[in-house]
Amino acid sequence: MQTSWWLWALVAVCTGDQFRDEAERIMRGTPVIDGHNDLPWRLLTMFNNRLQIERANLTSLANTHTNIPKLRAGFVGGQFWSAYTPCDTQNKDAVKRTLEQIDVIQRMCQMYPETFVCVTNSAGIRQAFREGRVASLVGVEGGHSIDSSLGVLRTLYRLGMRYLTLTHSCNTPWADNWLVDTGEDKAESQGLSHFGQSVVKEMNRLGVIIDLAHVSVATMKAALRLSTAPVIFSHSSAYSLCQHRRNVPDDVLRLVNQTGSLVMVNFYNDYVSCRQEATLSQVADHLDHIKKVAGAGAVGFGGDFDGVSRLPVGLEDVSKYPDLVAELLRRRWTEAEVRGALANNLLRVFEAVEQVSDHTQSPEEEPIPAAQLQASCRTMYGYSEAPSLHRQPGALLASLTTVLLGLGLL
Ligand SMILES: [Zn+2]
Repeated sequence: MQTSWWLWALVAVCTGDQFRDEAERIMRGTPVIDGHNDLPWRLLTMFNNRLQIERANLTSLANTHTNIPKLRAGFVGGQFWSAYTPCDTQNKDAVKRTLEQIDVIQRMCQMYPETFVCVTNSAGIRQAFREGRVASLVGVEGGHSIDSSLGVLRTLYRLGMRYLTLTHSCNTPWADNWLVDTGEDKAESQGLSHFGQSVVKEMNRLGVIIDLAHVSVATMKAALRLSTAPVIFSHSSAYSLCQHRRNVPDDVLRLVNQTGSLVMVNFYNDYVSCRQEATLSQVADHLDHIKKVAGAGAVGFGGDFDGVSRLPVGLEDVSKYPDLVAELLRRRWTEAEVRGALANNLLRVFEAVEQVSDHTQSPEEEPIPAAQLQASCRTMYGYSEAPSLHRQPGALLASLTTVLLGLGLL
């Protein structure tokens, strides 16, 4: 009968709205903490980090997945902003570029204090929630940003870095990346080298979250085994639903469960459906799968907004988070499970990382072996084969004379 068809259609529409209303009610109390957003990289490539020019106004910023009105509409209450520098800066200006990306994040907080507040701990996130501001944290994406130096690692911590992704899409001299699993790169550290293990230990001591997005499966397992605190995957999805090596396989998901760790699901179409097109519902499938294998406490969101070129229909920008939450409610996720995925799981991991940290413990000091440092443009001060610090002009002249004599020029 025609009447009942309309009635059912009406019921369907009302139910749809109900889940959306319910999502908004939940998110007013527990906004989303997203694990990975590349807006700082966009600010570099679009404006060379000039925030004061007219087009860079974050209230009206166009052609990005992220701006202030979209963050507000999406109930984003916490954001790990990515301090990212590409792999081609490795052994070159990676540290400088990382510092500049941390600087642009901090200037965002300074310029828009009514929207952003830069925080460095879990209490700061909770306080930002109460104030209705976006808790802004620094995630450094790629171990090449520390340039194989524990001193740089510690200094980045002091500047606000609260997670470090052990690799981007390249090996560091101490950790292997996911391209090792596709055969495009060679395994060099078999997961983590001895120095890589020191990096992980030092991150535990400092209270920097270990991020395993982008690393090889061997590196995932080595870090999960070694870390005394839970870890995160700041923007990775489930391998068993889309066989892309950037995703997390089920045996690793079980380790995630055993260690109280967290997978923040990436929305990039290529990792969601292994195709150019994807849907919001397929993202929910990844969340369902991780919940099934690793538990509801292991699920989070790491959209990778402004870091990817293709996003699912229905999740086109950061304003769409309530639609994804409505879909989880439609799939009978409980309110506690949804609040966990939104923020509470990340807060639990972050608090555990803070508890494990111990600044009274002695820092790791053993430098990476000289032979493992790459690139010819670096100096080797501190290593035995390096020239002495107090080399005198006379000594320089003497060695110059030796060289010239050797060449038969004197
Ligand atoms: Zn990434």
